[in-house]
Amino acid sequence: MKRFCSFFLAVAVFATALCAAPGVRPQAEAAGKKLIAFTFDDGPGPYTERLLDGLKARGVKATFFMLGSRAQTYSSTAARVYREGHQVANHSYDHPELTALSDQSVKNQIQSTNNYLTKACGGSGYVVRPPYGSVNQRVKAAIGAPVVLWSVDTRDWQVLNANTVTNNILRDSFDGAIVLMHDIYATSVDGALSAIDTLKSRGYEFVTVRELFRRRGRTMKNGEVYDTSRPNGKDLGAVQQPAVTDEAVGGKLQITITAQKGADIYYTVDGSDPAVKGKKYSGPFFAETPCRIKSVAAFHLNGSRSDTVETAITTPTAATPELQIENGVLSLSCATEEAEIHYTTDGTEAAMGSPLYQGPVTLSPGTVVSACAGGETLLTGKTVRGTYSSRGNFVRDVFPNQWFYESVDTMLSRGIMSGTGNHRFEPRADVTRGQLVTILYQHSQEQAGEEALKAMPFADVKQGRYYFTAVAWAYEKHIVSGYSAREFRPEQSITREEMSQILSAYLADKEMGDEQEISLEYGDLEKISRWALPAVKRVCALGLFHGDEKGNFAPKAKASRAEAACVITKLCELTD
Ligand code: ZN
Repeated sequence: MKRFCSFFLAVAVFATALCAAPGVRPQAEAAGKKLIAFTFDDGPGPYTERLLDGLKARGVKATFFMLGSRAQTYSSTAARVYREGHQVANHSYDHPELTALSDQSVKNQIQSTNNYLTKACGGSGYVVRPPYGSVNQRVKAAIGAPVVLWSVDTRDWQVLNANTVTNNILRDSFDGAIVLMHDIYATSVDGALSAIDTLKSRGYEFVTVRELFRRRGRTMKNGEVYDTSRPNGKDLGAVQQPAVTDEAVGGKLQITITAQKGADIYYTVDGSDPAVKGKKYSGPFFAETPCRIKSVAAFHLNGSRSDTVETAITTPTAATPELQIENGVLSLSCATEEAEIHYTTDGTEAAMGSPLYQGPVTLSPGTVVSACAGGETLLTGKTVRGTYSSRGNFVRDVFPNQWFYESVDTMLSRGIMSGTGNHRFEPRADVTRGQLVTILYQHSQEQAGEEALKAMPFADVKQGRYYFTAVAWAYEKHIVSGYSAREFRPEQSITREEMSQILSAYLADKEMGDEQEISLEYGDLEKISRWALPAVKRVCALGLFHGDEKGNFAPKAKASRAEAACVITKLCELTD
């Protein structure tokens, strides 16, 4: 594409060569580092990723004047350019000579490309390089952004030879130069990377175009043309990395991030890239620990920022206290040495301001305990809770303000239901077929006969499992049947209509008093399976089941352990 205006380029190179006479170098040495901006036009393309690998390996930042059409095709490469701290810039949508276009067409070329660049990489603030460097007053005004040309033309598009590209760069480079290349040629990528190694040994630092001007205290203005930023005795230095500190404040992890004056800080706590997804830092904040803070300091996120700092925060957090209640006596312990344990017994959430635990505490029935641990140099750990119920049961996950509390407490006290281990009840868990049958067996207070145990037909109900005897009993009593002659599926959850069916079968030989045929008035009546309808009518007539607050029976909803506790509690009231 550049071939169309090789005449213009030849003139530009000639002019550049004149300006690039040696002799400015001693001045530059005194004023700080020698700076140079490599720029790559017309991409992204198939060689851009390789160029990015090479730049990354060398710790070098560059500027990419992308075509909107290419950024559309190679959007993930464009995103990587930005993510890795290079400057993303605008080279029009499809490379027309802008001076030949109307103002509106120029604006469309620039704006559509800005949109594609932002869509690809999430950046903003794109300087513009008009194709062929072709620009006039009218086009500059229409572009409405700083216009960036070049001071070293490598003629890489013409020579297509890596060594020649390298030699051209080395011959013409000077402090403050903007070097023109094209990342759509493999030879340009190889030539540029090789030149970087040599220029580094000559004391050059590679910067984006934006940095080349910022570091020398120069402001780039919209509609102005820039091709060089020669040394002027000023070097503001590279953008310094932010510093991240953490401390325990009130038992919580407080993060403070500082950066050099004038730089904004962006950070994330979820491991994502702060230049793309970061929050702008506005002051100390609290974070969970352990955590990984990623932060970046920036004068502009697009090409004028520090490398990302990743900080793993490991300030110790006190372990969650271990809570035990035995015979109404509460004991608390914490695995973290030196941690203090604080607790409440009035239902409120424990905090470090709550009473200090100093030894076993006698509880009265119906008490909710809350405890947490922490200390001066520790972060406060997670809070633990537990209930010493009105009937003297210790449960970690059932509390008096829950609708199923009384029923669960009743079931535990009567031994009809038991916990799932370690004083948990798991009220929200589905009740399984094996559990329901066991509950009914407990409720019946009957004994399964030897014959029933020997006659167990189900291959998946194994001897030694807690439900073995109960399933044998229920099968003998025709309370349950299997999915097939050999299969019971004891671990499968059950729906409300299936539970109704089993309960109804269980009650078949029981005198139940006032039971009578009722007409159901649930909104979702048609969803109840035909086979389950008589059973649903029966259990509803007995008051064992109710509809939900919307007036639905929800026959296909899975029955929870909490629901089972409520249903069986009512059953107890009916049969006692
Ligand atoms: Zn171009």
